[in-house]
Amino acid sequence: MTNVLALIEISPTGVLATSAPALIAAAAKLGTPVAVVTTHPGDGTGLAAQLGALGAQQVYIAESAHVGRVIAAAQVEALTSAAQALEPSAVIVANSVESREVAGRFAVRTGAGLLADVVDVRVNDDGSAVGIHSVFGGAYTVEATVHPGPAVITLRQGALDERAAAATPTVTTVALNIDAGNSARIDTLHAAESGSGRPALRGATSVVSGGRGLGSREDFVLVERLADALGAAVGASRAAVDAGYIEQGSQVGQTGITVSPQLYVALGISGAIQHRAGMQTAKTIVAINKDEDAPIFDVADFGIVGDVFTVVPQLIDAIQARSN
Ligand code: FAD
Repeated sequence: MTNVLALIEISPTGVLATSAPALIAAAAKLGTPVAVVTTHPGDGTGLAAQLGALGAQQVYIAESAHVGRVIAAAQVEALTSAAQALEPSAVIVANSVESREVAGRFAVRTGAGLLADVVDVRVNDDGSAVGIHSVFGGAYTVEATVHPGPAVITLRQGALDERAAAATPTVTTVALNIDAGNSARIDTLHAAESGSGRPALRGATSVVSGGRGLGSREDFVLVERLADALGAAVGASRAAVDAGYIEQGSQVGQTGITVSPQLYVALGISGAIQHRAGMQTAKTIVAINKDEDAPIFDVADFGIVGDVFTVVPQLIDAIQARSN
């Protein structure tokens, strides 16, 4: 089997990103999964065990004092170094802001083709990697491949719920040589405070979103109450954001965040194609809307035709009764 590189993001405090399990699982579907990480010299202790538990058969630790101090450059160098050493058939990264930049720069540097925002992968008969895309608001599934490879693939966060079997990885540690003079430098880093204590929308396993149907910023609290009952993240339609019910960072859709949770609950959202583009790959979609002809019901697995202010409080009571 050919090697497949999975670039793993690590937070400034050394925690693996939530995208890591799916990236390694996707790499395992295509070949031998190799986790590539960048760290400060000597900081990689413990990473191999964590990545092995997620299924990495090899862990490629690229060390540099510039890690975390330059944007993307260390990860691009790490992938370049690993690709030269291991000749992968594909390189998979998260479809996050940071890794998308890495993917683009690595693809340009190596002349490789880029498959962006795939929701799944499979191997072609000739052994090449196929990226599966969900396009036009999820109305079509498109398969794409790159000839000649390797393909550089960005994987939509939350889209793949398969997991690779745990492995005992071999570990390779290399020192990176980075020309930091040409890189955008990070001077200071401030963690964004969400303050809500709720899961982050990106990568959440459950999402409750509210739309214009909530009617006001005050009544949008109903969305948050249901989200809290379910332990879910809070999302919104653009109309709800534009009306000031919630901040823009919660917008789901074409011009917002793309989510692919196990459960997506849409409250008072009509289901415009631009909204569906950001949530249609959710595993189970529940919609509550008083208009039985609302397009959201075309993609919903379960639909309730009714007023959110009547239905949702009952739903919250039922959920709380079950958890007591
Ligand atoms: P509406 O379409 O007004 O729907 C409100 C729904 O609430 C209706 O179906 C109504 O029946 C229901 N309702 C009302 N009261 C109640 C009640 N009491 N109980 C139950 N149901 C009730 N939109 C996004 O969401 N995300 C995007 O990223 C995005 N990007 C866009 C990009 C472009 C270029 C453009 C042109 C548009 C974009 N839009 C986006 C906007 C999109 O076209 C829709 O306008 C928007 O999604 C509508 O939001 P909504 O469903 O909340 O509002």
